[in-house]
Amino acid sequence: MERSTIVRVHEGLHARPATRFVKLAKGFESDVELVKDGKAVSAKSSVKLMLLAVKENQEVTVRANGADAIEALEALIGYLENPRAGLDDEAEAQSPANDAGQEAAPAPGFVPAAPDGANRLRGVAASEGFAIGPAFAHFPPDIAGRGRVLRAEEIEGEIDRFRTAVGAVQARMDLALAQDSLSAGDRGIVAALRDIAADDSLTGEAEGLIKGGNDAVSAVITAASTIAAEFSAVDDHYLNARTDDVHAVGRQICLVLLGQDDISLENIPEGAILIADDIGAWDLARAPLKRIGGVVCGHGGATSHIAIIARSHGIPAVLGLGGQINALRTAREVALDGNAGHVIIDPDAATRADFAGRVEAAAKERAGLTIFKTVTPKLADGRIIEIAANIGSLEEIEAAQEAGAMGIGLFRTELLFMRHMHLPSEDMQAETYAALAKAFAPYPVIVRTLDIGGDKPIAGIEFPDEEKPFLGWRGIRMCLDRPDIFKRQLRALLRAAVHGNIKVMLPMVSDLSEVRQTRVLVDECTAELKAEGVPHASFDLGVMIETPAAVLIAPALAKEVAFFSIGTNDLTQYIMAADRLNPTVAKLNDVTNPAVMSAIEMTAKAGVAAGIMVGMCGEAAGRPDLIATFVKMGLTELSMSPASIQRAKKAIMAMAAEG
Ligand code: PEP
Ligand code: MG
Repeated sequence: MERSTIVRVHEGLHARPATRFVKLAKGFESDVELVKDGKAVSAKSSVKLMLLAVKENQEVTVRANGADAIEALEALIGYLENPRAGLDDEAEAQSPANDAGQEAAPAPGFVPAAPDGANRLRGVAASEGFAIGPAFAHFPPDIAGRGRVLRAEEIEGEIDRFRTAVGAVQARMDLALAQDSLSAGDRGIVAALRDIAADDSLTGEAEGLIKGGNDAVSAVITAASTIAAEFSAVDDHYLNARTDDVHAVGRQICLVLLGQDDISLENIPEGAILIADDIGAWDLARAPLKRIGGVVCGHGGATSHIAIIARSHGIPAVLGLGGQINALRTAREVALDGNAGHVIIDPDAATRADFAGRVEAAAKERAGLTIFKTVTPKLADGRIIEIAANIGSLEEIEAAQEAGAMGIGLFRTELLFMRHMHLPSEDMQAETYAALAKAFAPYPVIVRTLDIGGDKPIAGIEFPDEEKPFLGWRGIRMCLDRPDIFKRQLRALLRAAVHGNIKVMLPMVSDLSEVRQTRVLVDECTAELKAEGVPHASFDLGVMIETPAAVLIAPALAKEVAFFSIGTNDLTQYIMAADRLNPTVAKLNDVTNPAVMSAIEMTAKAGVAAGIMVGMCGEAAGRPDLIATFVKMGLTELSMSPASIQRAKKAIMAMAAEG
């Protein structure tokens, strides 16, 4: 018996909606399958169901076979047709992908680790702030399978041992979930792990291997690798992130089988600096984060699990130290600078005093700034200055909201393209942009179209060898030459615009024709979506002002776009002809140079004269010493890293008070 329907569950059968669907299916005696595009999976396995990647508005068939097949079909079809299905339990509805459950990815602006001196190391500045404290080394040993071939009479006992271990892990996770102290985000991570531990896919795969004569530990390691590989092959960032979760669950089962406990973080001393090669979501979610003074890791970048959790809990972190992490195994005390990415092993008395002073000053400043979180900064004449956030992934939404961001002034879409083995699909992009729009509505979310060049190649786009990639085929230039890639992004943005206040901004514009050609493509995409009956809405189109050419044609550009956002990072390097990555010319790379300031002023004048919004999303936007100057030039939006938001609001309020 079977019935087909269109899935209306909001954002499809991801995470909690999938788990709820499985729970419902398990309540029926009948065998139940879900079929999509000819592929059928058991509706009683959340892992299999997640791997089917069922999206909102897709057609599926539910197949049931058994005594209660009619009731099962009725209930399951009803579930699939309910947009709020699985999302009503708010605490559990938190998707770890939206909180902290993402895979490690290279950080934008990754600094290759390099020794700086005997006791000084350099890594990725992943979470801002200073810390100094006793070192707490966390290096749990790798688990290797014994590779033992079981005798036939041993197999049954080994399966029992395996099932007991799985039960123990599930019970441990249930216990963790029952604790009130878990934050909603961390609860989401643990709940996702529990679902995997409770699912037949991993356990069934492992049992099959044990029946084939593998010892339980080897079987779990192999089974976890198989399932993890399936998750990483799907074109969906939420599902890709489940790879780490599957390995984490496999590790927990192995430890129980071996009668071992992972080195616990429970006893970490107050204010200690956690040193590790890598830390899994499971370990970190259970760790007493309030006691941790700082985190230093061999793995990870600015958008890895660890970075995201560290940022959302305000813990300074330096990651991506690579092999240098081994130098910290025996450290007694560690000082770290999460703004610059520096780590100092066993600091001398002067460094110690210096860091202690910085930690104290930073804590004082932070405490004093929190009152600005909910402030809407207004000038004496009543004009509101929007203080928005620059982010590059959905995991940073929470930090931006926590800081009091009035929307997103720059969503860098590069990471979406860089963290996958292939180009992201239109569906995946539409989901990502829609999630952002919903998170900040009614505030605007300004999504920047792909700004990538030969300096940061990505899978799926062939870049020519260029001597000067910063002056080459990047940003809007590349996109207009590859309408297949560009139109996919524009269609996704038009679809996401239904869900909130999406605005779109073009990077590296240097000629009016680039805006006009983009408009033609936007119109084409709109017509296509209309013909296909896909819901979509229009968006404001703006440009980044980050090339000298854009500054010089700003009056003409202002007549054709809805807003300007000044990208001071590139604008400074191009105006000053000083490579932003070259430390030898760092002195010239100065936004306060009169040449750059006058370019900013010219841009502001052109925008104000045309009556369009002029904002800024380069690093300079967050500088409290420059904010008043920019605002006086006519800028009404400043977008910056979440950590700078409250300071910026304070600077505007101080301006207003001065009148
Ligand atoms: C800029 O150039 O100022 C900017 C915001 O963009 P990015 O740093 O990503 O080049
Ligand atoms: Mg730029």
